[in-house]
Amino acid sequence: MNFFRKLSINWSFPLCYNLLPHFTTAGQDYNNLANCAKDALQDGRIQTFFLSDRPLSKQEFSSFRLAEDILAAGGEPVISLALTFYDRNTFVERLQEYIRAGVQHFVFVSGDYPLRTEAKTSKPVYDIDSVQLFMLLADFVGETDIARGCVVCPFKYYESELVWQYEKLRRKISVGADFVVTQMGYDLRKFDELLQFCALNKITAPLVANVFIADMQIARLIQARAIPGVKMESPLLRILHEKKSGREAELMRSAKILAVLKGLGYHSVMLGNSKIDFSEIGQVLDEAERIQQGWQNMVAELDYYDGEAQNFFYFKKNPHTGLNSSEPASVALKHFPSPAYSFSYFIDWLVYVPQGPMFKLTGRFCRFCSSRKFWYRFLWLLEFISKRPLYGCRMCGDCTLYACGFLCYQSECPKKQLNGPCGGSIEGYCEVYPEKKRCYWVKVYHNMKGVRQHVTFVAPPVPARDTSLNRTSSWINFFTGKDHRRMKIEAE
Ligand code: SF4
Ligand code: SF4
Repeated sequence: MNFFRKLSINWSFPLCYNLLPHFTTAGQDYNNLANCAKDALQDGRIQTFFLSDRPLSKQEFSSFRLAEDILAAGGEPVISLALTFYDRNTFVERLQEYIRAGVQHFVFVSGDYPLRTEAKTSKPVYDIDSVQLFMLLADFVGETDIARGCVVCPFKYYESELVWQYEKLRRKISVGADFVVTQMGYDLRKFDELLQFCALNKITAPLVANVFIADMQIARLIQARAIPGVKMESPLLRILHEKKSGREAELMRSAKILAVLKGLGYHSVMLGNSKIDFSEIGQVLDEAERIQQGWQNMVAELDYYDGEAQNFFYFKKNPHTGLNSSEPASVALKHFPSPAYSFSYFIDWLVYVPQGPMFKLTGRFCRFCSSRKFWYRFLWLLEFISKRPLYGCRMCGDCTLYACGFLCYQSECPKKQLNGPCGGSIEGYCEVYPEKKRCYWVKVYHNMKGVRQHVTFVAPPVPARDTSLNRTSSWINFFTGKDHRRMKIEAE
């Protein structure tokens, strides 16, 4: 029985070893990793190994070869494939290579933005986002036997960040994600929150919690922001800094986290360790098995909540368990919409909504211009000079302003995320411009908060853009049925 099938059986709790995370690959030794996988297989409690296909740090060996060796030794690799450097076609080619080699499990991610400090880093591509990837793979996957995982980050503490994370998860599930892996984290209340959210929204895809043994090595990486979007709570950082605990205590802490996550109802845990040494993982598993029965008693001691932080949780706290109640927390009140948002909203209603007073007339004029060179250029220029100052328009030819609070993802999101944020934002700031530029989706949230208190996506997932429309008029494309939205309207 493979990993995904085991995941789908409640009592099974298969474990996964995060053997090659994308952030600790520099200096990794191939033989160490391969031997570590063999030790785990010999132990018998772990058959599944998580590997990054193309880690960010320079790597001297091929993840593909490691995946083949794991398969040959009787294990199962789960490959994390990121869209950072692949366009949609090369991505599928890479996926097919792995499938041909016998890999059945994948986690599809947008991928971290390459570090600016690294010399000779290739330019990232971000041709499509992860939701669009799931949409593109829908037909292709039917002919294969693969399980598609997606990632969600519950460890966001601003309403504007967290709500989109869960909304994006909903989108990923709706377009075919089979299982869900969390971003790495240490906050048990957040782990519990994700379970509650899925229960509330009838999301039945199995959930895999991502836990990395907390030690100074990983704490330094997190503090240096080398693992985008990952946070370690201050009390836990203090414990590690003050070296109050030795290695034994660090392993014991991970064992307790593992026991609690299993008790809470996670279907699996993906365990990682900065030391490539299976004996430590084995020790964590031994301890977790020993203490599993009393998992409820450990929640309080693993609570690293920083009392001073104004953190947002999706549900109200349950004072008895220290986790979450099933009652949704109150959200910030809606505010007055900005003039730019109100103006855009009005124009959109006037021109783009079929019931709008200008819809038919604008449609006729756009179709008239579409086949006349002079008029086409005239309308193109008009679109450019009106949308450039307002939205920083790049004339991508397939306008999605209506779906994103009238802000342009092409000009504002470095990873071109069109169906919700990546996991890299931190305290509301963009992964690529920490403390300088707000995450695009945080701004979208604030814009939408102008009209509704509970912000959710108002449009269905936006499919991958037709790049041949680049530098053409989105107005004409909309009314001549060339962009994604027009086709939708025609189908209705
Ligand atoms: S046409 Fe494309 S680039 Fe221009 S505002 Fe719309 S989404 Fe942005
Ligand atoms: S703007 Fe937000 S979604 Fe886009 S790259 Fe930055 S953090 Fe990610």
